[in-house]
Amino acid sequence: MTVSGTATGVRVRIAPSPTGEPHVGTAYIALFNYLFAKKHGGEFILRIEDTDATRSTPEFETKVLDALKWCGLEWKEGPDIGGPYGPYRQSDRKPMYQPYAQELLDKGHAFRCFCTPARLEQMREAQRAAGKPPKYDGLCLSLSAEEVTSRMAAGETTVIRMKIPAEGSCDFTDGVYGDVSIPWDSVDMQVLIKADGMPTYHMANVIDDHLMQITHVARGEEWLASVPKHILLYRYFGWDQPVFMHLSLMRNADKSKLSKRKNPTSISYYSALGYIPEALMNFLGLFFIQIAEGEELLTMDELSEKFDPDNLSKAGAIFDIQKLDWLNGRWIREKLSEEEFQARVLTWAMENDRLKEGLRLSQTRISKLGELPDLAGFLLKSDLGLQPSDFAKIKSPPEEILEILNTVQADLEKILEWNVETIEAELRAIADRMGKKLKVVVSPLFVAVSGSSRSLPLFDSMAILGRSVVRQRLKLAAQAVAALVGSK
Ligand code: GLU
Repeated sequence: MTVSGTATGVRVRIAPSPTGEPHVGTAYIALFNYLFAKKHGGEFILRIEDTDATRSTPEFETKVLDALKWCGLEWKEGPDIGGPYGPYRQSDRKPMYQPYAQELLDKGHAFRCFCTPARLEQMREAQRAAGKPPKYDGLCLSLSAEEVTSRMAAGETTVIRMKIPAEGSCDFTDGVYGDVSIPWDSVDMQVLIKADGMPTYHMANVIDDHLMQITHVARGEEWLASVPKHILLYRYFGWDQPVFMHLSLMRNADKSKLSKRKNPTSISYYSALGYIPEALMNFLGLFFIQIAEGEELLTMDELSEKFDPDNLSKAGAIFDIQKLDWLNGRWIREKLSEEEFQARVLTWAMENDRLKEGLRLSQTRISKLGELPDLAGFLLKSDLGLQPSDFAKIKSPPEEILEILNTVQADLEKILEWNVETIEAELRAIADRMGKKLKVVVSPLFVAVSGSSRSLPLFDSMAILGRSVVRQRLKLAAQAVAALVGSK
């Protein structure tokens, strides 16, 4: 299928949900859209999809915007700069969705559902027991208008669900997958408007793509199964649908889905370690183009010249850190002038106030400036090179150290805002939960985070390093300690 679109009028978007640390997968999809717009002289815009109010936070929204800016992916319209189709944050668009939901109800394409969470859980339980995939059974599908009115008047909680054809299949052509056919009976009667009046992702996504005049929707393959719901909504509203392109997900070397348990996935991890954004974009861009060996080093302009969405590379997107390291080294050596290199190093050292904070904490702890690298160098290192012997001086047995490292690693996500106070509070809570003294929990963390038992204060150091670097250091420390378990 040709997905190039017309030479003018192409509008694409990246639509991140601010529910966690900005992921390299978001940069990968954003880059595809960015290159697609560049190739066609079109527009690349950014929309924040925060319909999941419990998981979305302003902190993560700021982080995702900062991370994509760091990548060099500039958008023409977005929540930070506005534009003709605003607002660009779905929570700010809440009142806009209701009339569309009413239109679907009026046309008979949607219905009100009063089923309680407890009833839905029972229903799913029964479906699972019968070996069927969980799916709404349609109990409220045929409620009379009078019954709906009286139940609403009585204050019963209600959601709006979309109707799905009883038979046949949804056939469409995806710009990457080609012809796809998904039977309607595998598609759920999706909730469109939640009990609190907020739209779900599917509803808001389709309405916004239409209102923002998006011509091509390029996103991760995990959304392919949702296309029938989206296409149906376009049909119900009588709107033209965009061209869909579902990109293969990035994978770990063992082909499993890229996950932070195997590879660091936060963009902030790569910036903290001193990867050059151009090198990261170069690395991700290679997933979209076909080139001969030896042609790998490419700028954004060169990537967009070679980018051909009708001829995407079929090779899976394997996130090979060694290749990224190799490209990053080449960028440092071959692409940056001496002045640029120096400027990059200084910007990097100042990022997240790393250097300034490191010096502030060091001032009371040294007698000669030359002691600084040993004391605070861990704040800048990409790899501490931890060995099992580094943990030998800690009083706890290796089993206990391992338990502490793993527990803290798993609980890092619970810290919503990452700062000295919240880190300290969570570590105290972990110590309480584990029934251990704070000192016992903190000693192995010290070594894991700084590589030494004599260094800067732990909570401050963790705050400066950032969550994604701390996570990776705890993981590597746990690997080192695991070698000690059972060997004593
Ligand atoms: N908010 C969705 C995400 O973060 C966007 C999916 C889409 O592009 O439609 O994955």
